[in-house]
Amino acid sequence: MPLSEYVGNLHMHTPYSDGELSHAAIATVAMRAGLDFIIVTDHNVWVQGPEHYYEEAGQRVLMLVGEEVHDQTRIPQKNHLLVYNTDRELAPYARDPQVLLDTAREVGALTFLAHPFDPPMPALKELGLEWANWEVTGYTGLEIWNYMTEFKGLITSYVAAFRYAFYPEQGIRGPAPETLAKWDELTAAGQRVVAIGNSDAHGTEYGLFGVRRVIFPYEFLFKQVNTHVLTETAFTGDYAHDKRLVLDALTKGHCFVAYDALGSPKGFRFSVNHDRGVAIMGDEVFNKSGITLQIAVPARARLRLIQNGKVIVEHADQTHITHIAQAGEAGVFRVEAHLMFKGQWRGWIYSNPIYVRG
Ligand SMILES: [Zn+2]
Ligand SMILES: [Zn+2]
Repeated sequence: MPLSEYVGNLHMHTPYSDGELSHAAIATVAMRAGLDFIIVTDHNVWVQGPEHYYEEAGQRVLMLVGEEVHDQTRIPQKNHLLVYNTDRELAPYARDPQVLLDTAREVGALTFLAHPFDPPMPALKELGLEWANWEVTGYTGLEIWNYMTEFKGLITSYVAAFRYAFYPEQGIRGPAPETLAKWDELTAAGQRVVAIGNSDAHGTEYGLFGVRRVIFPYEFLFKQVNTHVLTETAFTGDYAHDKRLVLDALTKGHCFVAYDALGSPKGFRFSVNHDRGVAIMGDEVFNKSGITLQIAVPARARLRLIQNGKVIVEHADQTHITHIAQAGEAGVFRVEAHLMFKGQWRGWIYSNPIYVRG
């Protein structure tokens, strides 16, 4: 049964917090950018009402509403948590991140630590908004790649600010190495951690040397770092049905993170053949009699198969990798694909792991 693939962005803001565009206006630009679904996540406010399909000129986009929650009394500010599929306002629980996670879980919500490593921006006197309380448990996953966070990290001087505000593609490289290392550490220790990648779009306008510029428009950001979900059945256009498919895929880790601006990653697959069938990224399999890992990307790329945080297979210019793990061999396997762009390797695709138990 072929899988269906849908592209979404799961982190953005409206005027309910510090974003510029309304829900309806965001839906319009998301359609223009070719997204299939979006999740709006205003700071510490759960907005009821805008969850439905938006349609225009024969196109449609599924809009869901989550929330980005943090403790507004904490000094300094840290611990931004993305919450999806809540049925109530969760901001009152933010004081203790573990209580927030537990409450979210009780109401059936998914939780992702947003921009877990977030650089300070001394040029604008901003501190980092990283995740501080790593002792917490019970979250769904990590936002491994946040475009605006990576952009912020490039702003080390006024010259850099000017350069990357106009040519961000020269600086954007991939998830922070600290984030990938943390993710590998958590999964190698036995935790299932689903990775997502997002824009964190606000549409804010800044002045740079007298030039007013929006850094960056929502439509631009929706064509950069996105999350692709894989579903066993196709979207029908029914809001409740398709919402369930998106949330199921995110819960199970049936998804990957991609830098879509480098080239469409549609068709990327990472699967494993085992004695009971085929599993895909996010799944857990038991390796009783040997397994075959299979990777396919839609264009030649530098491909890496990573086991417990270590690269075990690398090909510089390939579309496929097949790798056999002997009976009993265990590990957390994930895939990265990189492309050369403007003289540098850039991260293109980051799969979720397949958890192989011995
Ligand atoms: Zn945030
Ligand atoms: Zn945000």
